[in-house]
Amino acid sequence: MEQKAKESLNELNKRFQRASSPEILAYFLTNFKGNIAFASSMGAEDQVLTEMIASIDKETRIFTLDTGRMFPETYEAIDRTNARYKINIDVMFPEQQQVEEMVKQKGINLFYESIGNRKQCCHIRKMVPLKRALHGLDVWISGLRRSQSVTREELELVEWDDNNGMIKLNPLIDWTEEQVWAYIEEKNIPYNKLHDQGFPSIGCQPCTRAIQEGEDVRAGRWWWENPEHKECGLHVK
Ligand code: SF4
Repeated sequence: MEQKAKESLNELNKRFQRASSPEILAYFLTNFKGNIAFASSMGAEDQVLTEMIASIDKETRIFTLDTGRMFPETYEAIDRTNARYKINIDVMFPEQQQVEEMVKQKGINLFYESIGNRKQCCHIRKMVPLKRALHGLDVWISGLRRSQSVTREELELVEWDDNNGMIKLNPLIDWTEEQVWAYIEEKNIPYNKLHDQGFPSIGCQPCTRAIQEGEDVRAGRWWWENPEHKECGLHVK
């Protein structure tokens, strides 16, 4: 990345240091209109962002990745969110041939066998569709928060995403889990019903379990792996 572009990201980070999330979003949705999209996993943070984005500019593209291994509750959350905000979230699917070949070679539940297999599955079912969804854009928005896990402590509000060659905006970077849920309650935002059943972080059905009291919020994701490996690749720097 060029020095000049790095400086302008530093400036944006300074400029929005004390700004609210809706203020930050309003700036980016206006200045990058048509070249910006929000990647929603339909998680609690993403529902907060959908509410904010829909109230600023309903034409903003919002997409989600359907890996083919999602919980039924996640599909239901997509429907309720579309109905509530009168939007139409784009659902991105993996390449059929890649999925079929992977399953034929390694089995339907290959991810339990090795980190390599798990990463291959995430690559085919998430990374490839994400790249397709982001193609040609300047900015993508994510609902990441610093306090979510050890892999997310180094996040910045505005950062350069080398993998996708564009700016990544994390408007909820400094929010706490409590703030997220207070906002959902205050605005009566629709959310995935699994959150009420001990699932703070929801991904694919075979790779997500409920957590016990006192466990880390990401403990239920790929629970058989060490914490420092627990990213699907979508948010790896
Ligand atoms: Fe595959 Fe699990 Fe990754 Fe989903 S989370 S893409 S099922 S390895």
